[in-house]
Amino acid sequence: MVTEQYQQIKERIVRACERSGRRPEDVTLIAVSKTKPVSMLKEAYEAGARDFGENKVQEILEKYPELPDDIRWHMIGHLQTNKVRQVVGKVCLIHSVDTVKLAREIDKESAKKEIVTPVLLEVNVAEEESKFGFHLDEIPNVIDEISSLSHILVSGLMTIAPFVEDAEENRQFFKKLNQLFIDMKSKKADNVNMSVLSMGMTGDFEVAIEEGATMVRVGTGIFGAR
Ligand SMILES: *Cc1c(COP(=O)(O)O)cnc(C)c1O
Repeated sequence: MVTEQYQQIKERIVRACERSGRRPEDVTLIAVSKTKPVSMLKEAYEAGARDFGENKVQEILEKYPELPDDIRWHMIGHLQTNKVRQVVGKVCLIHSVDTVKLAREIDKESAKKEIVTPVLLEVNVAEEESKFGFHLDEIPNVIDEISSLSHILVSGLMTIAPFVEDAEENRQFFKKLNQLFIDMKSKKADNVNMSVLSMGMTGDFEVAIEEGATMVRVGTGIFGAR
């Protein structure tokens, strides 16, 4: 089941790229495997998945030793500063930097390990009370503030759009984030290289691709309901 669903999502990505004049190789599919057993992750791996997304540090630590080491692990969930030490060096990208304090902590732990950790700034584009993330208009200042941190690389922006029936309702938010992404790309700052726009989930990834997403995070569509 995972194999077929993974392939179907890949095909839908290709078609969304065709519709919007983009190249499929410019959109990375992250298989969001939170709560799912290692056996299902192995199935997705066999189908070709190499990027996996998890939202809990503990789950990453449990799963990664059980799986091939060419997998790229993505931390996509809210990250507490006291758990940073455990994920730095294990994940290829932290999508969920939602405070300057967290960025400083990731920088500090990365410096101890003598590595540079790529991170995305999470933006609460729709300004939902229940969601983490910076407001759109805070981002230029946040980037100024953290560009002095030499052990993180600010690689782009991420958003979790509202849960909606009709994906079209989220187009406005994806458009806004892409506009900010383009603006921030042209603004040169140290330790910043804007190349990743992480947006779109099972319900709305095609609209997100049409609006410029370079990474989509799909869970239910591949692994089934949680
Ligand atoms: C769970 C989760 C996803 C995947 O959601 P689906 O609707 O199952 O595709 C994507 N991004 C984040 C941050 C998540 O926590």
